[in-house]
Amino acid sequence: MQKVPKVQKISVLGATGSIGKSTIDVILRHPELFSVFALTANSNIELLLQQAKLCSPEYVVIADPKQFSHAKALFSEHQLTCEVLAGHEALQQVACAPEVDTVMAAIVGAAGLMPTLAAVKAGKKVLLANKESLVMSGDLFIQAANQNNAQILPIDSEHNAIFQCLPVDFKYGDLCSAGINKILLTGSGGPFLTTPMGELHQVTPDQACAHPNWDMGRKISVDSATMMNKGLEFIEARWLFGLEASDIQIVLHPQSIIHSMVQYLDGSVLAQMGNPDMRTPIAHALAFPKRIESGVPPLDFNQLANFSFTEPEADRYPNLALAMQASEAGQYATTTLNAANEVAVEAFLQEKIGFMQIAQVNEQCLQQTSAHDLDTIDAVLESDQTARRLSMNIIEQLSHSSMQRVVS
Ligand code: NAD
Ligand code: MG
Repeated sequence: MQKVPKVQKISVLGATGSIGKSTIDVILRHPELFSVFALTANSNIELLLQQAKLCSPEYVVIADPKQFSHAKALFSEHQLTCEVLAGHEALQQVACAPEVDTVMAAIVGAAGLMPTLAAVKAGKKVLLANKESLVMSGDLFIQAANQNNAQILPIDSEHNAIFQCLPVDFKYGDLCSAGINKILLTGSGGPFLTTPMGELHQVTPDQACAHPNWDMGRKISVDSATMMNKGLEFIEARWLFGLEASDIQIVLHPQSIIHSMVQYLDGSVLAQMGNPDMRTPIAHALAFPKRIESGVPPLDFNQLANFSFTEPEADRYPNLALAMQASEAGQYATTTLNAANEVAVEAFLQEKIGFMQIAQVNEQCLQQTSAHDLDTIDAVLESDQTARRLSMNIIEQLSHSSMQRVVS
């Protein structure tokens, strides 16, 4: 008798975002392989409704509880039968429900930590886009995955590329046995790679969000422009693969066709390539270890003219060095840096501080935070909140002194 393939039931956390939309696009191409258990959004109820019509989920969750009654009314008006839930507890519930096989963790920022961790603790297959959760809770997150047999598959294009270039029997942290001498983490350098340094302080949020190759949410777009994104990815790579800082080299590759590489002792370098479209890593992780169609057009090698590689300039991207220092200093420092950066990016997007002041806020916040142990999730959350308050004070002082300069 022919075996009927099991359909993977998926909760998409952050369904209305850039990664969430790409995930739904891939899922809908393969109804025989995937079905949607839950879709979640922060507050974009209209888009969530459209997505629910296409995916027929069993649950939808609106994180913002103030939107609950509006969401419930709208879904019933459109005669959708899915259950509407609200609030942060509900995000965790749909991440760890027993019916769920796979969780796409695509909420942006620290808000993704608890639902992603709930999925990990429930031993799910976790497709990890929310790098911030790993940056905030590194060891606790990896331990929880090991203790509960959760499978973490990287969605970040670089980490997905590294994963694809590692040997299938790679053991966590053991580069030596695998014959590897370096992980080459690539980055585009963002929209300001060649902008004269003197002009960087006056770039606008819209300019910072106009990434030359990738279409992403605003927070990660700004992080790409400051290269904090590469800094967070450096920390993420260390946790995902068990790497020392010296195992990783950051290489600028402005075309974003190579998504990262693994260099072996014999001189071979394996690269994963593809058009810059997140549906490729999403399809890879959804179907792993099989391969499925993703909707991404194949690379046309007749059109790929110039591949270039350079080193990032330290004074253009101060956030990169800060992230590496934080990674050496330990968990308290990466949690602090992540929180400071979220607050600083939001202040930049609201035009309260300038582009180059994002790194200033991050640096001052790190300097003003003394080392402390973070061995529980409560301690991580407390440290995150402390860093947020501190960063807001730093931003107020920075805005105050710029106002004074304008007045005098
Ligand atoms: P986005 O801003 O486009 O979407 C974020 C999603 O999170 C939305 O669905 C939003 O409703 C939800 N959300 C926001 N705040 C929330 C809150 N407080 N509580 C619950 N839900 C909330 O972001 P994105 O670009 O899709 O990025 C999502 C994650 O994936 C980030 O961690 C980012 O670093 C990572 N990532 C994104 C890309 C990309 O190409 N966009 C690439 C690699 C990694
Ligand atoms: Mg990335």
